Amino acid sequence: MTKVIINGAKGRMGETLLRCGETNPDIEIVAGVDVGDDLPAVIEQSDVVVDFSFHEVTRATGELCAQHKKALVIGTTGHSADDRAAMLKLQSEIPIVWASNFSTGVNTLFWLTRKATEVLGADFDIEVVEMHHRLKRDAPSGTATTLAEILAEVRKVSLEKELRHGREGIVGERTDSEIGMHSLRGGDVVGDHTVVYAGNGERLELTHKAASRDTFANGALRAAIWACCREPGLYNMENVLGLE
Ligand code: NAD
Repeated sequence: MTKVIINGAKGRMGETLLRCGETNPDIEIVAGVDVGDDLPAVIEQSDVVVDFSFHEVTRATGELCAQHKKALVIGTTGHSADDRAAMLKLQSEIPIVWASNFSTGVNTLFWLTRKATEVLGADFDIEVVEMHHRLKRDAPSGTATTLAEILAEVRKVSLEKELRHGREGIVGERTDSEIGMHSLRGGDVVGDHTVVYAGNGERLELTHKAASRDTFANGALRAAIWACCREPGLYNMENVLGLE
């Protein structure tokens, strides 16, 4: 039985993780922690901390996990470059599963995106479109960023140089190498992601739509069980699912 602490327990994802954890026979939720609670006081009771709190909080959570040699599952998105770099260093000390999206469907979308980009080649223009609920704070979504990273990696281009966020005004013709990124916000949309491949005379669109947060929560709990018996290192959900 894997002993799990949920950080950010009162949030949308936190509440879903607590509910899904209760019915998972391989998990014991030893604490749910949110603002005002004392994570250092309870961390020793756990095998793994699952962090779905706030992007500015995850670095300190990770450093605490490293001090106590506890595995970490990172669900938050939108970290600064500094925080990312500091969190990446912790991989030499503890196992970390870090995924912008824990759903099986989205991780299959990552795999399909890599394949489609390889097969279609440079003749197709690529754009990423994502939509989330009106309360989401960061944009583009972590999942859309992962998709763009996959596209840039397969196409062997610099994402920093080629990423084009939205378009406004006289922006000129589209270049062959740019990767368009568009963030829609509204209502209670849990998370939609589409990769558009637009060629001459045909268009391929790969779309995933999440209708419930349970898919992320169950994936993150599966990652928590998997992480506990790993060597220190950095892993993603494709590793957990054996998709690599
Ligand atoms: P939310 O705002 O509903 O919940 C965040 C919770 O964290 C809140 O209850 C807040 O009080 C708590 N929190 C803030 N500071 C804290 C601290 N110092 N210690 C403990 N708790 C603290 O947000 P959400 O929709 O549940 O999303 C949380 C994060 O997870 C976001 O970064 C979001 O982008 C990400 N997310 C990731 C996935 C994925 O599959 N990786 C899926 C959905 C959401």
